Amino acid sequence: MRPFTYVRAESLRDALDNARTADTRFLAGGTELLNWARIGIESPRRLVDIGRLPDLHEITSDSDGLRIGALARLNDVAQDPRVEASYPVLSQAILKSASAQLRNLATIGGNPVQRTRCPYFRSPGPVACNKRVPKSGCAALHGANERLAIFGWTEDCVAVQPSDPAVALACLDAEITTEHVDGGRRIPAPEFHTLPGEDPSAHNVLRPGELITGIEIGAPVPKSAYVKVRERQSYEFALVSAAAAVEIQDGLISRARLALGSVAMRPWRLYDAEQALVGLRPGSPAVREAVTSGFSASRPLSSNAYKIPLARNTALRALDLALEA
Ligand SMILES: Cc1cc2nc3c(=O)[nH]c(=O)nc-3n(C[C@H](O)[C@H](O)[C@H](O)COP(=O)(O)OP(=O)(O)OC[C@H]3O[C@@H](n4cnc5c(N)ncnc54)[C@H](O)[C@@H]3O)c2cc1C
Ligand code: SF4
Repeated sequence: MRPFTYVRAESLRDALDNARTADTRFLAGGTELLNWARIGIESPRRLVDIGRLPDLHEITSDSDGLRIGALARLNDVAQDPRVEASYPVLSQAILKSASAQLRNLATIGGNPVQRTRCPYFRSPGPVACNKRVPKSGCAALHGANERLAIFGWTEDCVAVQPSDPAVALACLDAEITTEHVDGGRRIPAPEFHTLPGEDPSAHNVLRPGELITGIEIGAPVPKSAYVKVRERQSYEFALVSAAAAVEIQDGLISRARLALGSVAMRPWRLYDAEQALVGLRPGSPAVREAVTSGFSASRPLSSNAYKIPLARNTALRALDLALEA
């Protein structure tokens, strides 16, 4: 591990000023970043510890919705009564992430910044991986790709984004707020992660030195649910997952939002299916057809065709649970 300088930021301004150089990284819970340094994925020259920044731990609500400070711990968010009652999809997605110990340390701002679990990207030895070494190739394209993408991939990268909370946030149309020495912005959660067609080496749209300050979610969606399919029931990343949020009027679906996880380098919204669901009666055969219509753009790799029916059935299950909520 390369030696690095450690700085504890005392204020937001202090954090931004200390992150002006490209080889600086913010340290929040440290559950990802320290692993990257150990494996050699990252060798920052300077770590800016943002863990004690005032105000960024709070969860507040008003008539417009909910604001979650970026440093709120995952377990604190999942167990907040407002999140449990009004955004159950987010609470469920968090509680299905990692382990209780990790969730006590990991932050809601650090979670979407986590990187792919592609085995080649995480390999301790040198390997063709455009995300790890730009322009070196993609060993997974014809290699071990059983768990990788079925949407939005290119020959330059077929990885998936593994975050569970990010899928719920994309489904809820949350916004990620940021600050930077050149000014802050609001990033729609469905657009936070980048697809390989844009830049195969990138994971998200954050600029160097850009700090996530919080996450904002609009009106409550109590009819929402998250389903995660994995090889063991805890402490495991998803094979696929699905988040669903619905609204009902006069017995018919008046609005539906569906997002899939672990199928692409970003949470994958099924926008066509969402449109097709409007006006349908819950439980009618047309609901299955509508969800299936969202899969017209899916493309399997050499070893992961099973993920297409699995993702469709997971989306249907999440939708059923949201309708029952
Ligand atoms: C064994 C293991 C299993 C896991 N399983 C799951 C799982 O099933 N589901 C799931 O969703 N996640 C899982 N995770 C990921 C875990 O949730 C993340 O490690 C965690 O959320 C990252 O948060 P952190 O605060 O520790 O980030 P850190 O490790 O501190 O930082 C991670 C990255 O985010 C950046 N960063 C942190 N905060 C900010 C900010 N406010 N603004 C800008 N950049 C920031 C850092 O600079 C760094 O680049 C797992 C992790 C491990 C180690
Ligand atoms: S899928 Fe992406 S992360 Fe995995 S080897 Fe290919 S380029 Fe690297």
